[in-house]
Amino acid sequence: MKKTLALIIAVAALTSVSGQAQDSKATLDAAAKALGATNLRTLEYSGSGYDYVFGQAYHGTTPWPRFNVPAYTMTIDFAANAARDDKRRVQLENPALGGGFQPIFGEMRQIWVASGQYAWDVAGGNAVAPRFRDDRRAVAAGRLEQITLTPQGFIKAAIANNATVRTENVRGKTTTLVAFTVPGARYEGTLGEGNVVERIEGWFGSPVMGDTTIEAIFTDYRDVNGIKFPGHIVQRQGGYPLLDVSVTDVKVNPAITIDVPENIRNAKPEPLIGTPERLAEGVWWVPTYAKSVAVEFRDHIAIIEAPEHEPQSVAVMEAIRKAIPNKPIRYVINTHSHFDHIGGLRAYAAEGATIVTHRDNVPYYQQLWAGSWTLSPDRLAKSGRAPVFEGVLGSRTMTDGSRSMILYHYPGNMHNPGMLMVYLPKEKILIEADSFSTPAAPLTAPPNGLANMRHWYDFVQSLKLDVDVLVPIHGAITTMDAPKNIVERFSPNGTR
Ligand SMILES: [Zn+2]
Repeated sequence: MKKTLALIIAVAALTSVSGQAQDSKATLDAAAKALGATNLRTLEYSGSGYDYVFGQAYHGTTPWPRFNVPAYTMTIDFAANAARDDKRRVQLENPALGGGFQPIFGEMRQIWVASGQYAWDVAGGNAVAPRFRDDRRAVAAGRLEQITLTPQGFIKAAIANNATVRTENVRGKTTTLVAFTVPGARYEGTLGEGNVVERIEGWFGSPVMGDTTIEAIFTDYRDVNGIKFPGHIVQRQGGYPLLDVSVTDVKVNPAITIDVPENIRNAKPEPLIGTPERLAEGVWWVPTYAKSVAVEFRDHIAIIEAPEHEPQSVAVMEAIRKAIPNKPIRYVINTHSHFDHIGGLRAYAAEGATIVTHRDNVPYYQQLWAGSWTLSPDRLAKSGRAPVFEGVLGSRTMTDGSRSMILYHYPGNMHNPGMLMVYLPKEKILIEADSFSTPAAPLTAPPNGLANMRHWYDFVQSLKLDVDVLVPIHGAITTMDAPKNIVERFSPNGTR
């Protein structure tokens, strides 16, 4: 009897599921029809507004820094799974608080492209591979999420991924919710009046924030050449705005091609890091886009900076353990709270290293890491270990009796209020991030961020530090002459 009842319930459940699936399909087809998504092969929309640089906030309680975007164009080839995002970015905030190369002189043009497994940037008319070439599939996948964050792209993806559709009463209004998952992400969208997509929420794994959302909000829908498209698009990530664009032009099925350039197609994946190089006795640096430095003490190793993400930290740890065998990595020193400088910290915490950072960053990192880490669980999430922090205020000397390393806070920098730099007095080595990044070629115009470079440079002068070797986290290892020449040429009287 029990068995029969279970069977009846199972059959009833199956019937209702298949009935629901039919309803889901009917709703998605109606939305596709309403939006004009069904026969939409290519799309280009442009406008102007603001964009915000994710992960580059001034500090832990401020939004991502905002910029004027006088021109923005997004081009999508749905069938080819390709997109091109072209932005012109102009300084807006004054004072220029936070990262994103502020203060920007003139205009920054930023073009990113992705097609299938390939991603590249366009700079000065040339296609340039993203920094992490062996990670380019992930870069491409991240960029192509933007297609799913458009109304038509969302509905196409919902149909392709057998989305479930349900209705819910939200604030007294019957609302249709469309949900589906793809590898590494899940999406939920809201259909509004006339079956148009009002809002999309995408969940992704972030190396800094764990499971995090991107929201896209669409308003002011208009009929344009047979499709419906919003006149206003807002995106938010990590609780703060990311993009705010008023759409002024929409091209439906334009004749566009996004071809993968030969140099990108043929680019050989590069290893994440190069071979560690010795700077002085017991001091090593690891070549990569954003470097780490290792300092050997009597019974342990301290690492300065854990940039980007876990894979880079894992590679750095492995390389440093070969260069400095049989000593544990006990400390990792963090220069500031921008995400490209903290994405690799958790990998060290998973190994039991103490994270040393400005005191004000400690509650920020604890809050960033307090969420769930289910979409791409990292080593720390899997270890169940509680990260250990040590906050620095002013300066802090770390010594084993023979070697000393001094951490200096340089307050008042517009890039970030908790900037730390690291000085090795005996070796006369200074390590800093983002205040000075060695330019790839001689400068012909003032560099972006000049005011912050000048502020840091003056601080180093005021400490009367004797520096033989300057190690910027970004750019070639150099001497203090490099920033000196730039500030004397472009900011001779301390003008910023
Ligand atoms: Zn920064």
